[in-house]
Amino acid sequence: MRIDGRTKLAGLVGWPIDKSLSPAMHNAAYEVLDLNWVYLPFSVQDQKGLARFVDAVRSLPFVGFNVTMPYKQAILGLCDEVAMFAQMAEAVNTVHCLDGTLVGYNTDGRGLIEALRSEAGFDPAGKKAAIIGAGGAAAAAVVGLIVGKASDIAMVNRSVERAEAVIERMRPYLRGATAEALPLDRSAREAVESADLVVNATPIGMVEGDPSPVPPEWLHEGQVVCDMIYQRPETDLVRVARDAGATVVGGLPMLVEQGALAIEIWSGASQVQVPRDVMRRAAEEALARHPAQEGER
Ligand code: NAP
Repeated sequence: MRIDGRTKLAGLVGWPIDKSLSPAMHNAAYEVLDLNWVYLPFSVQDQKGLARFVDAVRSLPFVGFNVTMPYKQAILGLCDEVAMFAQMAEAVNTVHCLDGTLVGYNTDGRGLIEALRSEAGFDPAGKKAAIIGAGGAAAAAVVGLIVGKASDIAMVNRSVERAEAVIERMRPYLRGATAEALPLDRSAREAVESADLVVNATPIGMVEGDPSPVPPEWLHEGQVVCDMIYQRPETDLVRVARDAGATVVGGLPMLVEQGALAIEIWSGASQVQVPRDVMRRAAEEALARHPAQEGER
């Protein structure tokens, strides 16, 4: 790694992030791309700390930074501008520092869609999807599905009111697609069974022994089942979905993709060939060294 008087900064702000995979993943890509950047973890324990971090960023040579739990919503109010998809998701995971202006983006939704495309050949156009969860990652997934022209979207959540609020917010953008909110109980069976795509966007599965967030008998051959969790190679959902004959996509390809998209934003060049394979290998090696904790990226 080259560090000199021209080195620019990038990084991740969140808490806890001590076992984050992002520094390994990003720094490996910068090396291959010959970018004179360094990616650092910035562990910030409360919202006051987040505001102080953002103030510091404004006077330091940052190209941008990623944002993870628990600040993806709080950072919205600290950005000067927020891109449309991040506004729709009400969550920012990538900030671009552009001539003193902080512009918030969300690359999780497109990251999910690109990962589904590359790992499972899945195109959401005209397809039915069931998203389990209604937090920032689930909302970003819904945005990705709307942009990808999915025909039917069901958001299934423990607190159904939270899913209802997300769906209501998305309604103006649906362009003929249907969207509904359902509680995470048996009433979601039809929506999950009939879905072409089922996505887990909850932390269920992070801990050894966690059950699948949906009953195994709701899953079947012909479906693509994606678990956003990447800290464990085989969650219960991944296992039961594979046993049911579904095509399974883990969370690591999405993690790599959302990071690669951040590099594209910061470098201002969508033509730059971000080495996803290098990033994935670096993330896998970092994961093997330090299994991550709940909520970390
Ligand atoms: P979040 O905003 O905190 O939302 C968490 C969601 O999970 C909420 O809908 C919550 O339901 C639900 N939930 C939590 N514990 C539950 C339980 N025990 N039973 C049922 N539902 C439960 O989190 P987030 O930022 O959306 O992230 C969600 C997951 O996605 C995390 O595991 C995160 O690591 C992962 N993620 C992965 C990637 C990737 O690149 N692979 C990117 C982003 C996020 P309530 O509304 O009822 O509380």
